[in-house]
Amino acid sequence: MMADDYDTRGLLRPLVFRLHENVPAIVREVLLERGWTEFDKKEQDDTDWNLYWRNSPFRMTDHHSIKPWQRLNHYPEAVRITRKDYLARHLKRMKGAYGSGLYEFSPVAFIMPNDYVKFIAEYSKESQSVGRRPSYWICKPVDLSCGRGILIFQDIKDLVYDCTVIVQKYISNPLLISGYKLDLRLYVCVTSFCPLTIYTYEEGLVRFATEKFDLGSLDNVYAHLTNTSINKYGASYKKYKEGIGCGCKWTFSKFRSYLRISGVDDMVLWQKINNIVILTLLAVTPLPVASNCFELFGFDILIDDKFKPWLLEVNYNPALCLDCSIDDTVKRKLLHDIVELLNYKQTDTFRQNQVAGIKAGRRRVPWSMAGESATEETPGVLTCQKVAKCTSASFVQPALQAARGSIRKVAALTKKTARAHPRKTLTSQLRERMNMPKIPSQAKAEAKNKQFQGARYSSHKSAQLSHWLPTPDFCNYKSTTRPYFLSDKDQRPIPRVGDFVLIFPFNEAALQACRGGTDTKSIIKEINKLVSKRLPSKQQNTKKRVGYLTSV
Ligand code: ADP
Repeated sequence: MMADDYDTRGLLRPLVFRLHENVPAIVREVLLERGWTEFDKKEQDDTDWNLYWRNSPFRMTDHHSIKPWQRLNHYPEAVRITRKDYLARHLKRMKGAYGSGLYEFSPVAFIMPNDYVKFIAEYSKESQSVGRRPSYWICKPVDLSCGRGILIFQDIKDLVYDCTVIVQKYISNPLLISGYKLDLRLYVCVTSFCPLTIYTYEEGLVRFATEKFDLGSLDNVYAHLTNTSINKYGASYKKYKEGIGCGCKWTFSKFRSYLRISGVDDMVLWQKINNIVILTLLAVTPLPVASNCFELFGFDILIDDKFKPWLLEVNYNPALCLDCSIDDTVKRKLLHDIVELLNYKQTDTFRQNQVAGIKAGRRRVPWSMAGESATEETPGVLTCQKVAKCTSASFVQPALQAARGSIRKVAALTKKTARAHPRKTLTSQLRERMNMPKIPSQAKAEAKNKQFQGARYSSHKSAQLSHWLPTPDFCNYKSTTRPYFLSDKDQRPIPRVGDFVLIFPFNEAALQACRGGTDTKSIIKEINKLVSKRLPSKQQNTKKRVGYLTSV
């Protein structure tokens, strides 16, 4: 085979990303670094991309027309937890249903103007209790972000608002490092709400206020708010701050080693934080059923001086802009790991074969058959495994450059073809070319695969698998496919991908409770069991782990 020939055929399968306007530049950079190509609306059609990334929700039609090889970066109605008032309502409902013991991680909140009377009652009760210091309150517009429109007050006469706001107990005893307040931006990726599958990212950002905490100056945003969008404009942002350094960020790694050096059990703290994430997401589960989407949330967690973590809010589209080198380190790796988590190993092969099959007017090729046949019967074509290797090797510059070089080559080659046949898309021509000689070998491979499948999946296994299928669309593929977030080996979510760690389901009982719908009651029961196994000594707390959750 000629080298060029090899290249052309080998590059039939670069993964394709599609970005909506205003998507942060780093998303494009990372995908290009991994050897992906950008979707071209003029040259390609709607089935030709693998990942569509937007900052705003998708239309329901986008969800309904999703193809097996495609992923969307938003779940329908994820806003249920990312708007401050919705989140407060959901958590209040859960508190009512399952007791305040588990759900006491969010500060007491009132939604104004609706809860005005309730708030006045609470405020008066507090001010009348003898010997009790009056609480501090924070008032936040429900649909603003980045610290905009926030007001902190102690005296009700200072409360003013002209839109829907949430008035929350202000945590007035935050953990301070060298006198500076901080909070955590924790990245959480939900790869499916049905069955609920949650990963938390081990690395993350600690965000500092840039002036020292002082309850005597409630209107100093640089002392009370930890948003980077605010603090980067503070006079002290660039200055060296004792104990903190310059800027306003640390990584989780640095913070956790700081805690350990200070004799604090960071494992226990992180287990509590993981519980908060699970309990919060359970509060909005189930969301409307949708396949092949994922959601990256930014959880804002404040730690008080007794090392109790509090949930402040959950962010939709957590900021991916790069304000400093720490952002670059954390967010770049985060995006690489997200792509790994999306488990594209096989799906591009589905795209190539299935679309080609449909376009050539042949019957659909079942997913796994498509994957296997291409792998085995098309020498020289970049197989799914080769794609996987190529993408993970993309961290290695020479491999990356080689991949980019050959992509350019094919791009140039395909452009020429496109000019000659303007009404056909580039990929469809390549697919057609790839498709035609494959007919005999594909049939052979299908037969081979039938045998192989029989050997690989027992009827018990395929019955198990059907519980995991998230939408009716997937039912067509019941016996041959698995949702992308399950491992090839045992049809369970992969426990760890890069720095993403699976925190739900955390044991067999939780896993069972998610099959065929979410049995919240049973899951809460499991969490309660683990939480109530509170261990007496600190040493045991760090040592004994039960699944992914530990007694806290
Ligand atoms: P936004 O969406 O505007 O960023 P947040 O709820 O995240 O709103 O609040 C912004 C900042 O205000 C937080 O990062 C935190 O520093 C501070 N903050 C918010 N709520 C509280 C609270 N209840 N107690 C103490 N600090 C808070």
